[in-house]
Amino acid sequence: MSEIQRLAVLTSGGDAPGMNAAIRAVVRAAAACQVETVGVRDGFAGLLAGRFQPLDDRSVGGILHRGGTILGSTRCPDFHTFEARERALIALGEQDVGGLVVIGGDGSQRGALALHQMGLPVVGIASTIDNDLAETEATIGFDTALNTAMSAIDRLKDTATSHHRAFLVEVMGRNSGYLALLAALATGAEFAVLPEREMPLEAVADDIQASYARGKAHYIAVVAEGAKPSANTLAAYLRQHPCAFDIRLTVLGHVQRGGSPSANDRLLASRLGAAAVSALLAEREGVVVGWRAGAVVEIGMDAAVAPCNKVTPELLELADMLAR
Ligand code: ADP
Repeated sequence: MSEIQRLAVLTSGGDAPGMNAAIRAVVRAAAACQVETVGVRDGFAGLLAGRFQPLDDRSVGGILHRGGTILGSTRCPDFHTFEARERALIALGEQDVGGLVVIGGDGSQRGALALHQMGLPVVGIASTIDNDLAETEATIGFDTALNTAMSAIDRLKDTATSHHRAFLVEVMGRNSGYLALLAALATGAEFAVLPEREMPLEAVADDIQASYARGKAHYIAVVAEGAKPSANTLAAYLRQHPCAFDIRLTVLGHVQRGGSPSANDRLLASRLGAAAVSALLAEREGVVVGWRAGAVVEIGMDAAVAPCNKVTPELLELADMLAR
């Protein structure tokens, strides 16, 4: 067992529903092992500025169901430098912190890995609405964001049908089209435009016309944030060409980041928070805790941040086949 008496926890990068549930689980799992937790405010930026906040069982009460992160989150370009990370290690040492839990996505886990390579015991918790970490099927926040996108697209479909309109709906996911593809599948969208498969503009225009000819009363194309063409380019193109439907563009944007976490995300966050503490205290450092085949997995940080593509040919085929 490790000598850690005090650990630190931070949330970093894009926030995700369920981060609070993960903070709560870390604090209480640590307390159950007589280990204190100190929260770091505003991610790696707070680490550099020495913004610490002691956390105990009571201070993480009432947050399980709340979206966002009580610790705050930032993007911190400085953290790419060795000097900045050295300052972070000094700040943690001054707080008598023996280990760090980083809750965040692939960028944050790269930062965590860089700290680990400098000798700090670090464990990451897979948390991103994009679900773009490798070797984990689920990440905290993805399920909630998917449900948010699904509800929004369902509503757009209602009005699209009433007015015989085609909606291009931009869904988040940065360079990953996984959230967009699953949202398209869950809503029966006619088309998914994704970074993983480049589309000529005409292909979407042709599909819209073909759907109209098949008697569809509406058309929904889910367009991933990082898709080529982008939702804006596609909308401009379609408006300049004859189209059977009136074209509308809706960007779901940051709505997808907020809201109370789903039951699945609360459960995942609770399990991963406790698993991160177990890993750290058992000296299994340098791992990201994730979820695979119905169980918690510890993934080497290098492997977790390696390029991954969850948009499989099978999922694409299914979406295309069912959008008839
Ligand atoms: P996410 O964790 O949601 O993917 P970002 O990609 O914005 O978010 O990364 C969050 C932060 O992690 C960055 O602002 C930076 O501080 C840190 N970070 C990302 N990549 C590295 C890296 N290679 N080395 C050190 N820190 C990094």
